[in-house]
Amino acid sequence: MKQVTENVYAETGIFACNLGLITTKEGNVLIDTPHFATDAVRWRDEVMEKGEVLYLINTEEHPDHTETSHFFPGTLITHQKTRETLAEVGTETVMKRMAHLNPEGMPLMEGFRLRLADVTFTEGLDMFLGGLTVRLFSLPGHSPGGIGVYIPEERVVFTTDIIFHRRKCWLHEADPEKWLQSLKRIGELDVDVIVPGHGELCTKAYLEEQSNIIEQWVEVVRSAIDKGLSEEEAKAKITPPDPHPKQPNTPMTEEELNQAIISRLYQIYS
Ligand SMILES: [Zn+2]
Repeated sequence: MKQVTENVYAETGIFACNLGLITTKEGNVLIDTPHFATDAVRWRDEVMEKGEVLYLINTEEHPDHTETSHFFPGTLITHQKTRETLAEVGTETVMKRMAHLNPEGMPLMEGFRLRLADVTFTEGLDMFLGGLTVRLFSLPGHSPGGIGVYIPEERVVFTTDIIFHRRKCWLHEADPEKWLQSLKRIGELDVDVIVPGHGELCTKAYLEEQSNIIEQWVEVVRSAIDKGLSEEEAKAKITPPDPHPKQPNTPMTEEELNQAIISRLYQIYS
């Protein structure tokens, strides 16, 4: 865990998404959870050394952010859409996925329940804790339930998967217009440090490149549609414009991810 500012910590080395901790004299706030049960219990031990966890935030609904909330204390806060999606996913699906991806973690999964949020919001929610403001705000585009976590006093924002810093972007459920609007919203914040959903910490200097990658994906798929290509032809012919490598060890291969992105964008723009 890396200390980012006086009261904000980030962990970029646990699979799969980046994790955060905000410390205050009244108790702490955790941001996202590891993908695997074995990592979750280790991360829990590490963060508990910094004090009591009062709140846990899932910054979007995908399994790499949400699946191990069960192992953590604190009132769970998410976007309303994240709660709705997870209610449909259910505990059984997570148990099967964990058995497949993290078999070593199965002894820890006895009595496991997929946690659903205790508190939800749609537009934004401000928390005031130990002299710090923790401002949660809707950041859709990568997924409907995406939220940012802005700590103005520390000039830091956690951007969920709206930013994949020098990592291949997952647009398999994307709404590109909303994604670009969310990037603009991040650009309006007064921050020195961005903790992206994936990849190392960055600054607002990366926003332009991130926007370009989204725009280029839209452009290549739209141009295939304009040329009259079918979805299958588009999948076969398009050269993916994202220059960055995919995070290793994810369930989808690079090829499968490209196909899923093209399919998603084809359906939106055709
Ligand atoms: Zn995601």
